[in-house]
Amino acid sequence: MIYLDNAATTRIRDEVLCETVAVLRDIYGNPSSMHSLGRTAHNVIEKARKRVLSAVNSDHAREIMFTGCGTESDNIAIRGMLPVNSGYHVITSTIEHHAVINTLKYLERNGVEVTYIDPERDGSVDPEKVRRSIKSNTRLISIMFANNETGVLNPVREIGRIARENGIVFHTDAVQAAGHVKIDVNEMNIDMLSLSGHKFYAPKGVGALYVRDGIRLGKLMTGGAQERTMRPGTENTASIAALGLAIELSLNELESEACRITRLRDMLIKGIYDSIPDVRLNGDNPDRLPGRVNMQFSGVSSDALLQSLDMEGIACSGGAACSAGAQEASHVLLAMGLSETEAKSSLRFSIGRYNTEDEIAETVDSLKRNVERIRSISPLYKS
Ligand code: PLP
Repeated sequence: MIYLDNAATTRIRDEVLCETVAVLRDIYGNPSSMHSLGRTAHNVIEKARKRVLSAVNSDHAREIMFTGCGTESDNIAIRGMLPVNSGYHVITSTIEHHAVINTLKYLERNGVEVTYIDPERDGSVDPEKVRRSIKSNTRLISIMFANNETGVLNPVREIGRIARENGIVFHTDAVQAAGHVKIDVNEMNIDMLSLSGHKFYAPKGVGALYVRDGIRLGKLMTGGAQERTMRPGTENTASIAALGLAIELSLNELESEACRITRLRDMLIKGIYDSIPDVRLNGDNPDRLPGRVNMQFSGVSSDALLQSLDMEGIACSGGAACSAGAQEASHVLLAMGLSETEAKSSLRFSIGRYNTEDEIAETVDSLKRNVERIRSISPLYKS
């Protein structure tokens, strides 16, 4: 299997798997219990919290809460700031993940005003458009750090500065970026940030939310006192420990891995351009995550190509995994100005720490053969 779907999820690191199993097996006390096993479990969580804090460059333990996933982090941040029927206004973009878009669509039907900003053709959000959308009732700006389909990085520092100058809270969904690029919530003027373990080699089903001290969020759930009562319920100690270790390991090798993966990414792009005519990179912005390639193959159905690659043991994606199977053109690519046909001819390859040069060469080879074959029988393709 050549796994090129690391934006959908990653394979757990061996060191992280060992840590998860060890905590599950040995540190089974309830972190709220007063006895020593409970205190040990509590300490495991606090150690993980420190690791996440240092990954975003914060010093205040109370600023990180652990959650069940990236979607939950987004919901806690957004709904916590925008009570239903509050009449507040929020600014977001049309390229957000469904975790943000569908949360805001729900709020829009329930007394919250939403402005959706379209991206530029290169896939990024223009901060000036954000500035121009501010109204007197704007309470929140929620713009993603990096897009999950194109990997394009948004100018979060500038958007954060605009939010700060106007006294508005800035949330960013950094689920794709965390563990892959440097994040500094202070330098980047970020007030709330969502991340998710399974995007950086930790298990699925654990996330975290950074919330700057002083921001008061409404609660989504009621229950015990865990995570400062914002995320009640007995903590998933093993997965939290895994997330903490995984983010620390990722940060230790951030630069070397970014370099290596960018080289593989550029090798893939060049290989495709050199061997296949009528292709185009979607989100051709130099500010991109190291390992993302979203490529349009004119006259080729992405479903057919995806299946052909799968039969040869190559896994990639035709759009966001959460909407896979829905046969809908990617809302991100449509928002960037692609036609429905162009969007449905696009594939996302996401490279990660286990990929090699040989795998990239094999993928280019397979793409060349399969694109040629599909085009030869496709009424869509006119060379
Ligand atoms: N936000 C972005 C940008 C994502 O890519 C994803 C997952 O693909 C999510 C949120 C949701 O994260 P989770 O799967 O942990 O709920």
